Amino acid sequence: MIPYAEPFKIKMVELLKRTTREEREKLIRDAEYNLFALKAENVYIDLLTDSGTGAMSDVQWAALMRGDESYAGSRSFIDLKATIEELLGFPYMLPTHQGRAAENVLFSAILKEGDIVPGNSHFDTTKGHIEFRKAVAVDCTIDEAFEVNYEHPFKGNVDPEKFEKIIREHGTEKIPLFILTLTCNSGGGQPVSMENIKQVSAICKKHNIPLYFDAARFSENAYFIRTREEGYADKPIKEIVREMFSYADGTTMSSKKDGIVNIGGFIGLHDPKVYEKCMTFNIMFEGFITYGGMAGRDMSALAAGLRESTEYDYLEGRISQVRRLGERLIEEGIPILKPIGGHAVYVDALSFFPDIPQSEYPGQVLGIELYIEAGVRGVEIGTVLVDRDPISRKNRYPKLDLLRLAIPRRVYTDNHMEVVVWGLKKVWERRHSCRGLEITYEAPIMRHFTARFKQKG
Ligand SMILES: *Cc1c(COP(=O)(O)O)cnc(C)c1O
Repeated sequence: MIPYAEPFKIKMVELLKRTTREEREKLIRDAEYNLFALKAENVYIDLLTDSGTGAMSDVQWAALMRGDESYAGSRSFIDLKATIEELLGFPYMLPTHQGRAAENVLFSAILKEGDIVPGNSHFDTTKGHIEFRKAVAVDCTIDEAFEVNYEHPFKGNVDPEKFEKIIREHGTEKIPLFILTLTCNSGGGQPVSMENIKQVSAICKKHNIPLYFDAARFSENAYFIRTREEGYADKPIKEIVREMFSYADGTTMSSKKDGIVNIGGFIGLHDPKVYEKCMTFNIMFEGFITYGGMAGRDMSALAAGLRESTEYDYLEGRISQVRRLGERLIEEGIPILKPIGGHAVYVDALSFFPDIPQSEYPGQVLGIELYIEAGVRGVEIGTVLVDRDPISRKNRYPKLDLLRLAIPRRVYTDNHMEVVVWGLKKVWERRHSCRGLEITYEAPIMRHFTARFKQKG
């Protein structure tokens, strides 16, 4: 069989700057040990996020040039709306400037103080928008998701028992929606099975609770359904995507992920009444309903990106690169979350640093040390991110403390991934002498972006 290679060739390149280890030690000290505070040019391989960092295709760049910048009713909007209806089945669509803006608009329309929003490990901005409205996000993810080495094929799945318990305890009036995140980002880029989507949908229907998707990585979720769930092996991704969305009443989307564009988002809806409510907030917060914070050209590129990301060859190229990185790390004995996620490899910092207590942020420590070693930037998904309890203000300690290495779409080669493996190996060799961190400043909400740290003595 012909060996595997990327399903694209490269038409333009962006040059990278290299720094020395001594320079990086100073740079990260000056950044007060927050990787978000670094200048990007001082990062050699940037795995901070796969959000808005993908490489667009020639077709998308061509679409940019054909963008229609009319304020109302642009061809770009009409094309995007038709693409979303064709791929995801939603007759109503509102563009927003990114995913969290879609959350802001939707939650302004349907969420109020005291409400309960069950879901599967809500993403941090989603949780932020829920808690900001003095509502409560309740996690219903299956327990297996928190067992690092348990190879469940669909670790994003919801435990129907947990969901039903919440309904019994709080009643349906307090539950304006269920949010299903596909794939589950905070849970490790883990997919939700079609069977589980159906189960959740059945419970929602029975109790009249609208089911919304947080669909940032819906294509990657469809790839996992195709490759892991019985009965889907021969189905085109577009067909699987249509089936997934046939169970949703609506969706929020960060187009910066599976839209393969640098900025953008949208809300997709079936219910005209919810659409009408959202319209007003969209106009107030985002822009007129036919652009909502996006340039026409960006909507055109997004329409093209959505068509590309729902092709099997694209997904196989993207997800197999993530898988190869994970497999190389396993080979080297580095503890990672299994199974390997769709968009990222998650290094298990609690196992990596048995000497560093969770109160000294082992995930953050690993991020700092990997940057110093190899100029690679990942991001902590652990105690810093999970933040304090909004009521007691006490630190919350998640079951997992992770360093996420998110791979941008179509950007780096496997040689870059080898540098990441090398860097982690070097930190692994000196893991018993790495120092914990202490927070010296934090914001009242979503502290991870701007927190400052110092190394423990
Ligand atoms: C990125 C992301 C969001 C927020 O989208 P932005 O475009 O970054 O505002 C919401 N949910 C999930 C699952 C995400 O990955």
